[in-house]
Amino acid sequence: MRVLLFGPPGVGKGTQAKLLSEELGVPHISTGDMLRAAAAGGTDLGKQAKAIMDNGNLVPDDIMIAVVREVLAGPRAAGGFILDGFPRTLPQAKALSRIFEDLNIREFKVVNINVEDEEVIRRLSNRLVCPKDGHIFNAETNGLSREEPCPLCGTPLTQRDDDREQTVRERLKVYHGTTAPIIHYYRAAGLVLSVDGTGSIDVVNRQIKLMLQDSHPA
Ligand code: AMP
Repeated sequence: MRVLLFGPPGVGKGTQAKLLSEELGVPHISTGDMLRAAAAGGTDLGKQAKAIMDNGNLVPDDIMIAVVREVLAGPRAAGGFILDGFPRTLPQAKALSRIFEDLNIREFKVVNINVEDEEVIRRLSNRLVCPKDGHIFNAETNGLSREEPCPLCGTPLTQRDDDREQTVRERLKVYHGTTAPIIHYYRAAGLVLSVDGTGSIDVVNRQIKLMLQDSHPA
């Protein structure tokens, strides 16, 4: 099973990717998580990426393409993957096609999750993350506030630096201007399955699984 998860920031890609990864037994590969890990580790890539991410902009294509090529060619992705956060530009989409050709990967699906911008802003301003285990919570629906302990492990919850409202608006601008148009690249190849992301986590998860089952095996 090879799936590209597509959609605006805050649509629930990470949450859905984690669920699918557990249910389908394939790794969740998130370029955002990889960059945040590099930033936390203080590597050169991490330092460079952190400043860009905090402004809501995109890390340069050549860096991202090299990172994704390495992980997809490695043993972790050999049995399939849920790719979350890549591609985000047309050059990345074209490079991914070349990577798939090189790795002899012929079948994959693109799951496109949609929600309105106002809902994205509401969700991201309420998003809290456990810095220890990466679990994601919603302050509103889970009845939690910032700095409250993670209900699962007790570590104080934090907000992602790029979830501040100004940065979210910039991320949405970048999404609509640069990332959303590449869905046409995949639509032309008949690979896109579209899901309404406004329902509950469970409802969206079920919809995605049904669509993946109904489509040809990927
Ligand atoms: P995400 O966790 O997917 O929302 O990604 C967080 C941030 O990481 C984005 O706002 C970008 O700054 C950066 N990023 C993640 N994936 C990519 C990518 N494929 N191309 C460029 N920048 C990326």
